[in-house]
Amino acid sequence: MAQWFAAKAAAGSALVFFRMGDFFEMFHDDAEAASEALGLALTHRGEHQGRPIRMCGVPAHSHEAYLARLIRRGFRVAICEQVETPEEAKARRAPTIRREIVRIVTPGTATEEALLDAARPTWLLAVVKGGAAWLDVTTGLFFTQATTDPAGLIARLDPSEILAEEALQIENAVVCISPRDAPARLATALGVASLEGFGSFGDAEIAAAAMAVEYVRAVNNGALPRLSPPVAEGAKGVLLLDAATRRSLDILEGPRGASLLAAVDRTLTGAGARELSARLASPLDDLAAIRARHEAVAELHEDSHRRGAIRSALKGAPDMARALARISLERFFPRDLGAIRDGLQRAARLAAAMEAAAPALLAQAIAPLSALPDTAAELLRGLASELPVRLDDGSVIAAGYDGELDALRRLRDDARGAIAAMQLDLAQAWGVAALKIRHHQQLGYLAEVPAAAGEKLLRGAPPKAVGDLAPIHRQSMANAHRFTCTALANLDRRLSEAGDQAGKRERLVIAHLRQIILAEAEAIAAAAREMAAVDVLAASAELATEGAWCRPELTERPDFAIEAGRHPVVEAALRKARGPGFVPNDCDLSPGHRLCLLTGPNMAGKSTWLRQNALMVILAQAGLFLPAAAARIGLVDRLFSRVGASDDLAGGRSTFMVEMTETAAILNLAGPRSLVVLDEVGRGTATWDGLAIATAVLEALHDRIRCRTLFATHFHELTVMANRLPEMRLAAMQVREWRGEVIFQHSVAAGAAEKSWGVHVAKLAGVPSPVLKRAAAVLASLEDRSREAADPLTSEMPLFAPAYAAPENPVLDALAKLDPDKLSPREAQDALYNLKALAAGTEAL
Ligand code: ADP
Ligand code: MG
Repeated sequence: MAQWFAAKAAAGSALVFFRMGDFFEMFHDDAEAASEALGLALTHRGEHQGRPIRMCGVPAHSHEAYLARLIRRGFRVAICEQVETPEEAKARRAPTIRREIVRIVTPGTATEEALLDAARPTWLLAVVKGGAAWLDVTTGLFFTQATTDPAGLIARLDPSEILAEEALQIENAVVCISPRDAPARLATALGVASLEGFGSFGDAEIAAAAMAVEYVRAVNNGALPRLSPPVAEGAKGVLLLDAATRRSLDILEGPRGASLLAAVDRTLTGAGARELSARLASPLDDLAAIRARHEAVAELHEDSHRRGAIRSALKGAPDMARALARISLERFFPRDLGAIRDGLQRAARLAAAMEAAAPALLAQAIAPLSALPDTAAELLRGLASELPVRLDDGSVIAAGYDGELDALRRLRDDARGAIAAMQLDLAQAWGVAALKIRHHQQLGYLAEVPAAAGEKLLRGAPPKAVGDLAPIHRQSMANAHRFTCTALANLDRRLSEAGDQAGKRERLVIAHLRQIILAEAEAIAAAAREMAAVDVLAASAELATEGAWCRPELTERPDFAIEAGRHPVVEAALRKARGPGFVPNDCDLSPGHRLCLLTGPNMAGKSTWLRQNALMVILAQAGLFLPAAAARIGLVDRLFSRVGASDDLAGGRSTFMVEMTETAAILNLAGPRSLVVLDEVGRGTATWDGLAIATAVLEALHDRIRCRTLFATHFHELTVMANRLPEMRLAAMQVREWRGEVIFQHSVAAGAAEKSWGVHVAKLAGVPSPVLKRAAAVLASLEDRSREAADPLTSEMPLFAPAYAAPENPVLDALAKLDPDKLSPREAQDALYNLKALAAGTEAL
């Protein structure tokens, strides 16, 4: 228990997996938490301070599965291992075996395949005041950013684990401090004398990077995986998307798995899927870089032969980056070595498939993909073609690669042959034809004979069974007896020695291959990165081909013209349902008509159209083609999308408060190159409030910010604004009425919706008919009343009155007419009296 308490103190908030023989045990509160999370039986053993000790455990051989479940539930787990054998403990005269925490497994630092999602990066994000750094230990990718918006970064990266200074108060973050000598620590971790060679980093970026690196080192008991040099990522160059926009667009995750990523992902490798999700999470704002991607996709789109060759080289290719991380941390399996061997071969095949391709992104990939023929050949020679599961299973290294290993294996195999020969000898010498030599876990090789023959041997050995063939009894069982003899025992020893030595030698050869891999770690990582990038490009071309997607034309001018655009997620859902197909729609927000006000009943397709146009920007700037007949898009610097908000009850904010906070962000941050999509904003409050706010927001977007805007509303009253806002256009979802039923046509046309069809939609939804009848009656009377009043809105709402003109002020007018230099003292006094009188008159107004 003293040992456990010491481990628990070192582990902090992590659960302690305490190794005891074949089990990992948990005690006290850890046991309680783990038994609940894993559904294990909670037991008791002994007492501590007069109370029974709660405990539960998991078998060591299958602990990874339990570990995975705990990590997914957000736990961190400290692995406390036995670090000596019972014999060593006895030799030290110690009362117990020494145990130490060898590692802390956390969501952001795990490398085991069972703990990872092949298609998702596992970012460990470190945040300090003014800067952030994020790295993926499973691939070595490492970035920093000088940022004052950790929330935006968190929304973009969706990190597996967050480290933050206490003062920042970031939810769910592990509280951490940056090491005092951050630059030196970071340089050491990266194996360089100074960081200058990697670019220029701010102090906060370095502090955050060092915080992340030291955390990784701490949880790995001092070891670090291979890390690529950090890349300082300025905010420039990427399309800015805030957290609310990401939420509203379901980019990486959506309800029931229906996300943009899921709809467009045609990648063939885990690394490719990770790269695609990274591109969709941070599209570019850099014309040249985006065009380069489109160029490559276009080539692969047209050249289906090349695309086929590339995709067949990628299909089933192993995940080199993650294997490399496990190899560098010495936490690898034979299949990880195999992954590098096979991955390098695939990379070379991929390079060959790209030969003579014109687009720069493809041409540039050839060299890194085919850079390591020697390493590939060495691994091919060194590794067995069929690899075992564990490193000490004994057949990782191929025959013929290492002479000494081959000799030791021969010795071991000879001894095995000798055992077979001895079985014959003993059967003869002991006169028992049914004698079999078998291997037992604890007792080694033994000769087993049937019960009757055994009894006879026990009574007296036959004459030939003498000397080193004399039987020595070991075990009696119901129907057999087990014997050994000096010759068999000697052979047993030789065999196990040869086996041990072959094992040791094999371990050495494996370490040698590991070194060969690590010496080329950077080049292997680069090949893996190129493979992922090519996978994304070829997948985009595949998608474009199968769905008739088009290459968008990107411009500097803030155009936005989509012809026959579709919503990729809704379209895919409709196709799956095999009902009516998706109705394509145009959208034009180019200069001259930047603002579009969309009306239409519920369920008519407003939200779908709004979001499909926002998604066009993300897809285009991520480098993909678009689900449209044609598209011209002026580069967007910031994309905002807001949907009539949902309550953030957990955050203590009402619907309306959330909506207004988000709207405020748009009004403060959007600019002339932005695209703003507002879906029924203002519905979270009383009608007039909502109407008033929607009006003011529209005016600000139109007059001041001058961004491209799509605005869906059910406030039909807003449509009158088109008369005074020259860039505003009206659009409406088309609906037909047929025998009292409403039919949605899902097409967008110019103009305003005539009515809102609320009662019809309620009928579709199954509202009982008496309620519908009553609602229809109330509606009719309301409509009558509004026709009687001349124009109720204009009279009742000052906002819709003609723009408010400030009344003229006679005092100011008079004052402006005075010229003090031309006044005598007397005239000046008169003027003053006059002004005073005028002012008194004005007050009466
Ligand atoms: P609204 O926002 O006007 O209430 P939605 O955009 O939520 O309507 O659309 C309601 C449903 O109509 C969608 O779930 C989809 O099934 C269907 N729909 C929307 N747009 C289209 C379209 N262009 N073609 C076919 N079906 C569509
Ligand atoms: Mg809607």
